[in-house]
Amino acid sequence: MLDNKTRAKAFKRIGKIVGAEHITMHETDKILNAIDAWPLSQAKIRAGEILPLADMIAFPGNVAEVSQILALANEMKIPVTPVGGGAGTCGGTVPVYGGIQLDLKRLNKIGEIDHESMLVKVQAGVVGIDLEEEVNRFGYTTGHTPTSLRASNVGGFIATRSGGSMSSLYGKIEDMTLGLEFVLPDGSIVTTKAVPRHSVGPDLLQLFIGSEGTLGVITEATLRLFILPEERHFRSVTFPDVHCGLEAIRKIFREGILPSVARLYDPEDAAYSFSMHFDFEEGHCMLLLAFDGDKKKVKIDETRSVELCIAEGGSDQGEGPAKRWWEHRYDMYYPTRLKTEGYTIVDTIDIVATYDRLEKVYYAMKEAMEAHGAFVLSHFSHMYQNGGSVYMIFFTSQPSAESAWETYKRIWDDGVAACLREGGTMSHQHGVGLTRSTYTEDELGSSFKVLKMIKEVLDPNSIMNPGKLGLGVRE
Ligand SMILES: Cc1cc2nc3c(=O)[nH]c(=O)nc-3n(C[C@H](O)[C@H](O)[C@H](O)COP(=O)(O)OP(=O)(O)OC[C@H]3O[C@@H](n4cnc5c(N)ncnc54)[C@H](O)[C@@H]3O)c2cc1C
Repeated sequence: MLDNKTRAKAFKRIGKIVGAEHITMHETDKILNAIDAWPLSQAKIRAGEILPLADMIAFPGNVAEVSQILALANEMKIPVTPVGGGAGTCGGTVPVYGGIQLDLKRLNKIGEIDHESMLVKVQAGVVGIDLEEEVNRFGYTTGHTPTSLRASNVGGFIATRSGGSMSSLYGKIEDMTLGLEFVLPDGSIVTTKAVPRHSVGPDLLQLFIGSEGTLGVITEATLRLFILPEERHFRSVTFPDVHCGLEAIRKIFREGILPSVARLYDPEDAAYSFSMHFDFEEGHCMLLLAFDGDKKKVKIDETRSVELCIAEGGSDQGEGPAKRWWEHRYDMYYPTRLKTEGYTIVDTIDIVATYDRLEKVYYAMKEAMEAHGAFVLSHFSHMYQNGGSVYMIFFTSQPSAESAWETYKRIWDDGVAACLREGGTMSHQHGVGLTRSTYTEDELGSSFKVLKMIKEVLDPNSIMNPGKLGLGVRE
């Protein structure tokens, strides 16, 4: 928190930049903005705890205002926490050391579509669904459909290296972003040219993607567009175990087939998610597939994929389960069907690994988390040619707040340790934020020092989102 004099001075100066109606110090605004969708902070608020609050929240309306605010914060050494949609799950927008929360929602313009190059320029505060619906009107899709599409914005997607449900075909946001406008902590505005590929040194664009507000602020992006598919067809297959299901997926991708969706639910998650609606053998896994494209191509890809699944011991379940999942994909997965008592926290850990390690990582993490009494549901949610991700939803319920927070921490510590020990990477799409901040050094190993050096050069006063991504932690 700032001292009264600094707070008052900063408030007055930022008010002059954005206009008095675009800055607030009201307690209710600060409390509402104190958390994102991080389950631990939500549980703590329910338990009556007070979380760190920002000193003020500013709403800049253009890149020049963002630049002036950062220059001022840098001069006064005030922490700045960027806020996108505020739907991150890792505490990325929690203003750990107070200061300014920089809410980008007013940067909400969608530029004209470049039909020839199939690109669109968008400001950081554009909400995912608004962009998707706008480009749909012209026969395009962004291909980026995370479950938080209605809650998160373009800046947040890019800042966290977000992944949509169809990333197997369309890629993650880092594949879709061709160019960026970015404001550095000293207020300078930098742009990277939007080109399909280049050979001019290291890719600076990728340095900013996933930087989670620790290196500066994303204000605009140039994104790729795809033609809306003529056909999207669904197919579901059950397997006696995870191994057979993963083998089938691996073989599908190995042949060069790119389903838009490939999600394998383990026996617990398959039972939880589908047994109320479909009959299939108890203890079996459920694979959901979708294929996008013209009718002929979809038919060929689907037929061959099902053949490969059957050869691995799969049983064809038709389109039902996959189609149902698609139609309900934006429903939130709150545990309404589970009876919970005391202090309950439900959180998710999304990790990624290559095929040679994926199964080992999954079993090791599940065992480590279950050792603390967690109930774990898992699905392999985003699959690629060389491996894929596991999305583990865990539930823990404890009689007291202290034991709940402690158990939650142990589940995370031991779950991530198991992931790293078996050669996985600790996040596929949700980012690091606060949840994974203390594990960043273990995850990055010898390359962590490079990240720290970049941070020290770009942000010598460590004003940008301190405490996140293992950077800028203060005493
Ligand atoms: C129900 C639910 C479902 C979800 N499903 C998915 C999913 O399918 N796939 C997925 O990838 N994620 C998912 N998420 C997580 C989350 O929505 C994403 O990680 C999303 O990318 C965060 O975007 P946001 O705009 O909400 O960011 P915020 O929560 O506002 O911010 C996230 C981080 O990015 C930084 N940041 C935000 N904007 C900027 C900017 N303009 N410049 C610099 N830094 C910035 C913040 O400081 C913070 O560190 C889900 C979350 C929920 C609650």
